Amino acid sequence: MIDRRAMLKAGLGAAGILAIPAVFAQPGTSRTRIVFLGTKGGPRVGIGASNPANLVVVNDTPYLIDCGMGVSRQLVAAGVPIPSVKYIFISHHHSDHNLEYGNVVYNAWAAGLSTPIHSFGPKGIEAMTRTFWELNKFDVETRIADEGRPDPRPLLIAKDIDADGVVLKTSDVTVTAFRTPHPPITDNFAYKFETPDGTIVFSSDTAYNPKLAEFAKGADVLVHECLYVPAVDRLVLKTKNGATLKKHLMDSHTSTEDVGRIAASAGVKTLVLSHFVPGDDPTVTDDDWTRDVKKNYSGRVILAKDLMELKLPV
Ligand SMILES: [Zn+2]
Ligand SMILES: [Zn+2]
Repeated sequence: MIDRRAMLKAGLGAAGILAIPAVFAQPGTSRTRIVFLGTKGGPRVGIGASNPANLVVVNDTPYLIDCGMGVSRQLVAAGVPIPSVKYIFISHHHSDHNLEYGNVVYNAWAAGLSTPIHSFGPKGIEAMTRTFWELNKFDVETRIADEGRPDPRPLLIAKDIDADGVVLKTSDVTVTAFRTPHPPITDNFAYKFETPDGTIVFSSDTAYNPKLAEFAKGADVLVHECLYVPAVDRLVLKTKNGATLKKHLMDSHTSTEDVGRIAASAGVKTLVLSHFVPGDDPTVTDDDWTRDVKKNYSGRVILAKDLMELKLPV
């Protein structure tokens, strides 16, 4: 459970700027929790909400979903040691989801990483991993020789996902990938985490996709991206590529009204809105985000904020 009002009072103001880290559960009180590390959709970096990243923690094992810019600092702010991350899932290769993929592993190494990190993502994650080490070859090899650090390269084990299905099964969780369209990208995966305390589904960025409701059927928590259509015109005015950007946004994301349709059709217990587009427009209120969702969905709706935590079972 979360207390959003307490978090707002504690410093998460209207601008969404973080003042203090989330308060974590005492050991033994909750096995499973989600931490929303970065909630603003898109690659632009700002002083408000961080770029997309989510964390699931089950029995103290962190599973990182997406690595938008700022994810390393957000892990630190959340009180999660970066080297404790064991698994990384990249939903798709837009930079707001993978820009800090290699760097977060590097930052884990800088903080003493000694155990493997397994990463999964659409085709390209294996090549990106090789290229990352090539890019940083000088620094890595200098520090190995000069500082006696272990070689980090064998510690990052990447795997391309090329089809729907189970990508990871441990004693704690089963993670299943599901392809969903995000034009022009087709190699794009939603992820389902089946945990001892309930099922969590992350939509990835996605066009309105009724099949996603089947994938999320009966989930305890659905974390879905969202687009506030009335603000799109204002958003694209800020850019030189306005007309093209508007077409991309409308074709490849899900309006708040359609997010409600998905949540209702899936029958999820709790819907969390995140990956807000626009994520940095102070004139869009919490009511604006939920108004059209509620036309179709009558369950609990939570607006994610950076470092907000949701404990399971919900
Ligand atoms: Zn995105
Ligand atoms: Zn995207």
